[in-house]
Amino acid sequence: MRRPFVAGNWKMNMLADSSAQLAGELADKLPEGNVEVAVCPPFVYLTTVGNVIKQSKIKLGAQNVYFEPKGAFTGEISTAMLKDVGCEYVIIGHSERRHIFGESDELINAKVKSAIEAELKPILCVGEKLDQRDAGQTEKVIETQLAGGLVGLSADSLKNLVIAYEPVWAIGTGRTATPDQAQEVHQFIRSWLSGKFGDDFAENCVIQYGGSVKPGNAESLMSQADVDGALVGGASLKADDFIKIIGAAIKAKSA
Ligand code: PEP
Repeated sequence: MRRPFVAGNWKMNMLADSSAQLAGELADKLPEGNVEVAVCPPFVYLTTVGNVIKQSKIKLGAQNVYFEPKGAFTGEISTAMLKDVGCEYVIIGHSERRHIFGESDELINAKVKSAIEAELKPILCVGEKLDQRDAGQTEKVIETQLAGGLVGLSADSLKNLVIAYEPVWAIGTGRTATPDQAQEVHQFIRSWLSGKFGDDFAENCVIQYGGSVKPGNAESLMSQADVDGALVGGASLKADDFIKIIGAAIKAKSA
């Protein structure tokens, strides 16, 4: 049985005070229910936020990681550092990393492998750009990103893998995939996972949707059979909105 999972990607937003305040509000207002919740603040506020949420059920995640264990890699952060400050999750291959910073599937694969070795739970992001969708290439793009990102990994090692389907044209644009569009791609991802790692693996793998998820569309998206939660950007910066999205996940999946 898959546990619904809502994660907030704060991106490059907030300062120390506002991070602590937002985390505190989330911890205070977190609804009871069958849902996993994580927040992914900027690296420099992981400790601040981790301290605020440590008595709550909210988990801590990072937005990125580097695959080398240590050494001369100026500006990078290792898996051991993330573990050290209390991270349980790490977002890998977010579309902003792929398209602004030029991350390749090969680099993303190295990051997924290092996260798994360190027992961090990777949230592997995949998603097509608008021109790729318009050209009918959505499945091909997703398949390439999945195959490339998961090269050399076994079903056993990937038991904590989370996948986030995030159509690039829906991220931060206010334009959301319809529930049917999301379900179609999620179903494709699950069937690809089944072919690669077996039915049991595919049935148990959590697949989040991301792309302008808001309180008003969250429940209809997460009511889809293969949409197991959400990776939320903009709306995760407002405590009330994020709490409503968490509530929507509980409601959608208890129906
Ligand atoms: C994201 O950052 O992963 C995201 C989906 O952003 P937004 O919700 O703002 O579209």
